[in-house]
Amino acid sequence: KKVIDTPILIIGSGYGGAVSALRLCEAGKKVVMLEMGLNWEKSGIPFSNLLKPGKSAAWLKKKTIAPFMNLFSLTPFTGTLDRLDFEHINIWVGRGVGGGSLVNGGMAVTPKESYFREVFPDLDARKFYSTYFPLVHKELKVNVIDEQFLKDCPYYQFTRVGEEEAHKAGFKTIRVPNVYDFQYMEKEYRNEVPRSALNTEVIYGNNHGKNSLDKTYLKKALETGNLEILDLHRVDHIKLNDDKTYTLNVQQTDTSGAAVADKIFNCQKLILAAGTMGTLKLLLHSHAMSQFPVHEEIGKSWGNNGNFMTGRNWVKPMSGGTGAKQSTIPVGGIDNWDDPEHPFFTEIAPLPMGMDVATALYLLINRVDKKGEVSYDAGSRKLVLDWNESHTAGMRKNADYFIKKMNRANGGTRSHFLFNNGFGADVCYHPLGGCVLGKATNEYGKLKGHDHLYILDGSLIPGTIGVNPFVTITAIAEYCIENLIRENEFA
Ligand code: FAD
Repeated sequence: KKVIDTPILIIGSGYGGAVSALRLCEAGKKVVMLEMGLNWEKSGIPFSNLLKPGKSAAWLKKKTIAPFMNLFSLTPFTGTLDRLDFEHINIWVGRGVGGGSLVNGGMAVTPKESYFREVFPDLDARKFYSTYFPLVHKELKVNVIDEQFLKDCPYYQFTRVGEEEAHKAGFKTIRVPNVYDFQYMEKEYRNEVPRSALNTEVIYGNNHGKNSLDKTYLKKALETGNLEILDLHRVDHIKLNDDKTYTLNVQQTDTSGAAVADKIFNCQKLILAAGTMGTLKLLLHSHAMSQFPVHEEIGKSWGNNGNFMTGRNWVKPMSGGTGAKQSTIPVGGIDNWDDPEHPFFTEIAPLPMGMDVATALYLLINRVDKKGEVSYDAGSRKLVLDWNESHTAGMRKNADYFIKKMNRANGGTRSHFLFNNGFGADVCYHPLGGCVLGKATNEYGKLKGHDHLYILDGSLIPGTIGVNPFVTITAIAEYCIENLIRENEFA
């Protein structure tokens, strides 16, 4: 086996990994990043759209795995979208250099300050709202759609109808910022540049327009000359050595998923940023393989960020419905968070199926009143999730209340076309928690029971943040890495 020694190693190239890489590289540190997915930019392979799924559509699957309408067969390839199936919940994650930023909807939402304070009582919220959130907006290139464009563009009929109906039902709507470049989108619309958001590209990657991490944090980190990213490198397990260094067993694969080399990486400092489920799997699997120490808090306070999908059929069928052509980038939301009986936020989501299916899709984000827990089954080598219908009961009540109120005011029925009984309790895009900041780790993400291992990803957030999470994940990573560097952890 090839043995590689490196001082600082990062596992995963999503938000937490990208932030850590940039700040360490800027501080003059040499960093190696291991990512199991493909470096799409380097490969030159284009991303595919929703209507013609190709290589990028799914992680080593024979059929597409989008939340709806999986009619397409595939040749297994290391695609961008993966789905982890548990008994009561399916969790979608991004794979590739850029992690979830390659497949997500780009919604860049800052949490409500009151909720942030409730979720993180020990953090200095003032500093987050004055420093880290503005910094993250700048680095991620967050922008907002022009209101006149939104009004005129036929691809946003679904948002206009969604907002109009919400107002009629007495709900408050908000504009949602995004990392997709809306100037680019306006040019797409005028046919001055190749189309991406207006060409059903999103959950299998965007060829243009979207400022994913490979265009922002990772690009800047690479420009320092201090970062090396090794794609198609999957870490299997980690061993803690007697001298407190780490040894990683890594498999390099080709794009069909076949192993091409087994490698050993030795490092002094290790940053785990494999995403909530990836990080938990690595910690718990390593524990089963090599007595790797795991703190008793690991796996606790896991949540789906209150994700609950639902939809309505026959939305204004007489007046043109939600539109045959839809942009893939959501820009509208309904904010019902201040209602004490039914607090939720919902995205007015696109459903770009190439025809008007007269259906409105909503991804609700609720509070998580009952947290789940993640453990590991050594026999099957799989994560086990303590998560069932009791965890989503309150979310279902909110969805029911929301749909009924919308239908009373506007007509329509709960969408049985999209989900079994109109409720997608099992759809999760936002797994969070399991290595909670200040519980499983110290106040800056250093894992308890370890001297040189840091967790920097969504697993630090205790299962809920009330809005789409990547702005918060990025801000927490900025806060942690700044303080870890200041405390000379990487000296
Ligand atoms: P990730 O971004 O998940 O990155 C982890 C990386 O680690 C991945 O690239 C993975 O391949 C790699 N990895 C894992 N295990 C290993 C291993 N063993 N070896 C090597 N590499 C490994 N959030 C929003 O805020 N707004 C949105 O609009 C939004 N839309 C979404 C839409 C979809 C379809 C999905 C799936 C998610 C969406 N999200 C959205 C959620 C958001 O993308 C995630 O919360 C975010 O990406 C998590 O960041 P992270 O740093 O924790 O890890």
